[in-house]
Amino acid sequence: MYRAAFLRHIAQTSDAPIGLEIDRAEGPFLYTTDGRRITDFISGIAVSSLGHGHPEVVEAVQEQAGRHMHVMVYGEFIQRPQSAFAALLAAQLPESLQRIYFTNSGTEANEGALKLAKKHTGRSRMVAFRNSYHGDSHGSLSVTGRDVYRDPFLPLLPDVHFGEFNDPAAIALITPETACVILEPIQGEGGIRPAEPAWLASVRQACDNAGALLIFDEIQSGFGRTGRLFAFMEHGIVPDILTIAKSMGGGMPLGGFAASDAVFAAFRNNPPLNHVTTFGGHPVSCAAANAALTVLLRDGWMRRAPVIEAKIRQALGSLPGVVEIRGRGAMLGLQLGSFEQTQAFVEGCFSEGILLGWTLHSNTLVRLAPPLTIPDEVLDATLDVMRSQMMAFPAGIAAVSF
Ligand code: PMP
Repeated sequence: MYRAAFLRHIAQTSDAPIGLEIDRAEGPFLYTTDGRRITDFISGIAVSSLGHGHPEVVEAVQEQAGRHMHVMVYGEFIQRPQSAFAALLAAQLPESLQRIYFTNSGTEANEGALKLAKKHTGRSRMVAFRNSYHGDSHGSLSVTGRDVYRDPFLPLLPDVHFGEFNDPAAIALITPETACVILEPIQGEGGIRPAEPAWLASVRQACDNAGALLIFDEIQSGFGRTGRLFAFMEHGIVPDILTIAKSMGGGMPLGGFAASDAVFAAFRNNPPLNHVTTFGGHPVSCAAANAALTVLLRDGWMRRAPVIEAKIRQALGSLPGVVEIRGRGAMLGLQLGSFEQTQAFVEGCFSEGILLGWTLHSNTLVRLAPPLTIPDEVLDATLDVMRSQMMAFPAGIAAVSF
């Protein structure tokens, strides 16, 4: 019904948008206006970890919307949902990440983190990694490691230096002139690639030696998706700045970056209001986030992540045509042998009512990121369909292209 308006008036960024017309969404399912029920196996790209429309999140949104919505730009008024959520989140974070600045999105969280690192250190050099994805604004695109997305928008920020992810040689890029190093503990759009713990430790050490701030972008990997609240908690390597978004808002837009008091001191003055936002930390989004985190912690949904991982690995890991399954918990990538195979698999699953997709930087990697709340019977039935779709593709693995 709205297809014509969508195609005519919504700015298009894709030649072939999926174009599902959504009527409503509930739990692991999307319902379309033409009567289809689709199993959401990507969670709106790692957002709806509690499933769509969790009743406690919806109730919190309704309650807060009825009480007040926007009242003032960032950081002036005490708004209950914002302060309550910050305290709940901080209770889960280490001592050095007790102060949080809320934004509208992940990109904006990274923008803020980069500015904070520059201001705190008085330096401008930044180190980032190839195949990273940190967002699409000029600052976050400047540290995103894929030329095809960067080249049309040059010049970007100067003094950004890219190393290979997980490469010990990249450590040498971290010099005493470096303001910050930014990385995803598990690269998401780069093809679901976890950092090696020893490499991460050496990045941490090099940052300490250089007086550079280490920024972990956990926008995709955060809030329980990997089985821990944050992926960095698996190895105990703590960043100086943590950037967060996506599933934090329980389906509402919310981002943020956390650091210590000492680091955030750089934002207090000179100039006044040196980083401000109108809608960042919106009270309705914070109320939703507060409900989502309460449910995540109280109901133990993080414990579902390794169960989901085990079932996926068991069902798909040894099928002919599967090169490997990478990642942790419910943040997995199914590495296939060719684009043709990936396309056939994703389209075949879609025709059977399962929504999958590839990652931004890899067209041979199928993203597997179901809601943590997906019931076992839905997960099992979905994996059965995936198995038969995988078996349907002619055997023979082409060279892996990236
Ligand atoms: N960082 C990472 C690791 C992401 O996966 C994304 C979104 N895919 C972003 C940053 C940007 O977040 P947003 O789309 O909310 O701006």
